[in-house]
Amino acid sequence: MISFNLRCANGHGFEAWFKDGATFDAQQASGEISCPICGDCEIVKAPMATRIGRPTPSSAAEEKMAAVMTKMRDQLVEMRKKVEENCDYVGPRFAEEAKRIHFGETEHRDIYGEATDEEAEELEEEGVEFARIPWLPTDN
Ligand SMILES: [Zn+2]
Repeated sequence: MISFNLRCANGHGFEAWFKDGATFDAQQASGEISCPICGDCEIVKAPMATRIGRPTPSSAAEEKMAAVMTKMRDQLVEMRKKVEENCDYVGPRFAEEAKRIHFGETEHRDIYGEATDEEAEELEEEGVEFARIPWLPTDN
């Protein structure tokens, strides 16, 4: 991803993100980039250095992002359901239980629960297999 500082024909400056420079050129040529302030499609690169920062998404990009987020959310909710059906919930004892299972101190089973960042780091260091997934509420 690359960000460009752009300017419309009315002088509005804004920042937009593109896959690469060629993508920007193609979108600029076909008038797909529009000013988020006035909607003008005559966009040129502003004479400023590219910097890393939060993108200022156009409404089209925002819509696309919202669609992607919705899809991801659905997948995560689905994943959560599967985990809940197939794994034992161990709550905040997750790290402890994961280690016990890893070292064969207890019967192997699939578990899920909560772990702090520190605990997760520790598990990684111990070589314990686990995955962190964003835990979304299933109701909305
Ligand atoms: Zn404008």
